[in-house]
Amino acid sequence: MKPRKIPLRKCVACQQMMAKKELIRVVRTPEGELLIDLKGKRAGRGAYLCGKVECFKLAKKAKSLDRALKQTVGEEIYDELQREFISVQDAFIASRDEIDDDEA
Ligand SMILES: [Zn+2]
Repeated sequence: MKPRKIPLRKCVACQQMMAKKELIRVVRTPEGELLIDLKGKRAGRGAYLCGKVECFKLAKKAKSLDRALKQTVGEEIYDELQREFISVQDAFIASRDEIDDDEA
């Protein structure tokens, strides 16, 4: 039996390797906009963060997204992403649980 490969990604804030679906993807669109990409399907350069508010705070403090996306990310963008994350957090957690639960 072949072991099933789980795609792992690193949180740019706390550097933890985690399954892709456990992480929030932040994408820089070709237009240069930074967005939270819940479905992970948007075109652009992506960076991953744990689905945790603490990691958004950590990322802001350490400017992790600046490094991961190779562009300057203003503090207000970090705040905006954090707000956006908080507003989608429940949907994110719900969708994550759905994937885990095969009996649904
Ligand atoms: Zn993290």
